[in-house]
Amino acid sequence: MTIIFDVVVIGAGAAGMMCAAQAGQRGRRVLLIEHYHVVGEKIRISGGGRCNFTNINAEPANYLSQNPDFCRSALARYPAAQFVALVDRYGIAYHEKKLGQLFCDDSAHDIIAMLKAECARGGVQWWMPCTVDGIVSDAVGFAVATTQGKVHCASLVIATGGLTVPKIGATPFGYRIAEQFGLRIVPPRPALVPLAFAPDVLARYGDLSGISIDAEVACGEGRFRENLLFTHRGLSGPAILQISSYWNGAEPLAIDLLPGIDIAPWLRACARSAARLDSVLAERLPRRFAQQWCAAHGIAVSMHALADERLVAVAAQLHRWEVLPSGTLGYNKAEVTAGGVDTRDLSSKTMAAAAVPGLHFIGEVVDVTGWLGGYNFQWAWASGYAAGQVA
Ligand SMILES: Cc1cc2nc3c(=O)[nH]c(=O)nc-3n(C[C@H](O)[C@H](O)[C@H](O)COP(=O)(O)OP(=O)(O)OC[C@H]3O[C@@H](n4cnc5c(N)ncnc54)[C@H](O)[C@@H]3O)c2cc1C
Repeated sequence: MTIIFDVVVIGAGAAGMMCAAQAGQRGRRVLLIEHYHVVGEKIRISGGGRCNFTNINAEPANYLSQNPDFCRSALARYPAAQFVALVDRYGIAYHEKKLGQLFCDDSAHDIIAMLKAECARGGVQWWMPCTVDGIVSDAVGFAVATTQGKVHCASLVIATGGLTVPKIGATPFGYRIAEQFGLRIVPPRPALVPLAFAPDVLARYGDLSGISIDAEVACGEGRFRENLLFTHRGLSGPAILQISSYWNGAEPLAIDLLPGIDIAPWLRACARSAARLDSVLAERLPRRFAQQWCAAHGIAVSMHALADERLVAVAAQLHRWEVLPSGTLGYNKAEVTAGGVDTRDLSSKTMAAAAVPGLHFIGEVVDVTGWLGGYNFQWAWASGYAAGQVA
């Protein structure tokens, strides 16, 4: 039997469900294929179970991509306010936690249920769990061979996400299909990910696990002021997750441990004190960190033992503590995958492959990576919506 749909969407995550619902509500016959046994697993585990489903301040500057302008059109046509209006229509209670980040009051399940209901409104059909064995072009558009049979479609949407958290369904499937059809791939890498200390640094700071500092962390074009958290393997916390997306693996991070304070005059005011530098610093930094930091810099001494130029140098070091991580904690601990399908080969309006009519890529599989704070879901909704209007 020949099964024909107008649109086949592969991957029932955030982007795939949004796209399927939109296309279905336009009257297209839509099939959504998911290889895992449940849908929207990333939504379920996101935001500590409360799903930070968007950021009301989302704009292109909050995204990394080889083409930073690519996301502009989709975000403009489906801004955060439009998703918030959908959430409102479903009566889902939410709150702003900080910095424009909207979270469900109750549970991420509310968002999954809403997307399933939107798919139902569009008459979307599901094959799940179902594995795609291969895709070829045919007279209709595409023939998709699956464990539930072969299906033909005019529009094929790849929404299989990135490589993060493989144990809940992540695969490189989207990249393989892109390559099969001649699209380029920006090498994927873990992003929004904790960073590891080199062994010698870990030996000094590893015991500080659980301590956090309000810091400003910079690397490349990134600069974030948020909490930095010591872990038993290195550094994490929002400031580090954010900067990890900008870290190129070679450059050290520049950490301002006392952002917004001109520390030199304060140190000078304490210059004649018999107190040790680490005790003085403990007024503004966690004491155990101050002790380790001073020991590492060979300045665990009394204030009066430090000459004025040394104090000025210490102040500069506090404002620029350079740390070269030994690596990231990888895809198991990352929130997103940076890189992906090269935007040069896609239309920013429809997410369609320029050279393959009817083939679309949406969500995290594309080389568009948001900051921490609801930006990645907003990209999933916006890119899914864009493809859903035309697929
Ligand atoms: C722990 C964690 C917390 C997060 N918290 C937030 C947050 O609070 N806010 C935020 O904005 N972002 C958050 N993110 C990021 C966000 O979850 C993703 O950016 C977003 O889910 C991407 O949507 P997507 O639809 O492109 O991919 P996904 O949601 O990953 O969906 C892809 C779907 O495709 C399926 N699939 C994969 N391969 C195949 C295949 N071969 N065949 C069929 N189906 C396949 C997968 O099983 C999955 O269902 C978080 C991520 C993690 C890991």
